Amino acid sequence: MNKAESQRVAHYLELLGYQATPVPWSADLVVLNTCVVRQSAEDKVLGTLGYLKGIKSYNPDLSILVTGCFVDLRIEELERCFPHVDLFFKPGAYVELLSWAREQGVTVPETVLSLPPPEHVAPTALISIIQGCDNFCSYCIVPYRRGREKSRPVMEIVREIRHLAQCGTKEVTLLGQNVNSYGHDLPAQPDLSDLLAETNDVAGLTRIRFLTSHPKDMSQRLVSAIASLDRVCEHISLPFQAGDNNILKAMRRGYTAEQYLQLVDTIRHCIPEVALSTDVIVGFPGESEGQFARTLTLLQEIRFDTVHVAAYSPRPGTIASRKYQDDVSPATKKERLNRVEALQADIAGQINSELRGKTVEVLVEGKKRGKWYGRTRSDKLVFFKSDNDCLGQLVKIAIGKTSPWALQGEVVADCTGLPTIGETSVGRDGAMLGLGLKS
Ligand code: SF4
Repeated sequence: MNKAESQRVAHYLELLGYQATPVPWSADLVVLNTCVVRQSAEDKVLGTLGYLKGIKSYNPDLSILVTGCFVDLRIEELERCFPHVDLFFKPGAYVELLSWAREQGVTVPETVLSLPPPEHVAPTALISIIQGCDNFCSYCIVPYRRGREKSRPVMEIVREIRHLAQCGTKEVTLLGQNVNSYGHDLPAQPDLSDLLAETNDVAGLTRIRFLTSHPKDMSQRLVSAIASLDRVCEHISLPFQAGDNNILKAMRRGYTAEQYLQLVDTIRHCIPEVALSTDVIVGFPGESEGQFARTLTLLQEIRFDTVHVAAYSPRPGTIASRKYQDDVSPATKKERLNRVEALQADIAGQINSELRGKTVEVLVEGKKRGKWYGRTRSDKLVFFKSDNDCLGQLVKIAIGKTSPWALQGEVVADCTGLPTIGETSVGRDGAMLGLGLKS
């Protein structure tokens, strides 16, 4: 979400005549987009604000703007604590950014907020479709900083995606803190499957993803939509957070481990090729060794493709920080985190090794250290070499090497569309359907 909002801020500033520079000390304006989801992220914000203060002491004309989740209701307090910051604006409050620019004498066209994105778009785009969250999980700061759920109208989103597709975007990721509750606050109460169906019809688009789903809002209708809409990728991010029911209850997640397992069964029954990723928190207050072991058991049982693991850190203002003692030691949290990572590396290594010798379809996103990279529909990162310009192309890659984190392969059908080695015709991510050269 922060990445999507940073792109939007950059887009508006470009429309006002600013140009990006990679070095903050040569900038006239720095916009700091912040995350405070964990204490370490908040510490980084404070460190960066100190660093920018140093730059401003040499260059008093530098303007510093701060947005993101660091900016909450206490704006006056923030202004007192950080007098070197010129403007604090809440996430998504672009009107405030534009008013500030106007006050600085910058010409701001009235229509700037409705102007389409620039023509030089990337092959993939992040589209915010719902902001905020109504769930109030006990450990989470998001509802306090981002507010209640607010969905964007279907047609406004589809118009934006159509424009991006006309400019060359091939894949969109629909974003929300709680993306699968999309639409309930709109007059006609469309849901995410309605939006996916509309997006699936956009000409030129080849892939659609969405992030992040809450297990309790994952409806059968949505699962069926993913299964039936050809451009919707078979990849679902479904955070389970903990394997023990008492911890899940203290987290206020709204489901049990058994209900989560049942949901995964349903998803895998309807979408057999689905890749699942999840988020896990270790060291929640009171988490015993036995309770943590249930998290490991769930990981072993489900065998996710990707797991994002974090150690619990109390966020002031949340229910958990008021109600529970942060009583799991940092050393135990670290040890549990390492055990989850080691187990997951093993599982992901096995899952990915099954793709060795198979052919996958990759949407190319860029080049790093002489190799092109992109992702499969199931969100696997793939590297390969080619002398052609492959950016934004769908390329078929025969997988040679695998690791828990990425795949390496050779081009089967090149970016020119011409086959290069004995081509395998593929279905979704390596499901072999037949052999033979395509003309
Ligand atoms: S659903 Fe996600 S964003 Fe919402 S409160 Fe829970 S963890 Fe935070």
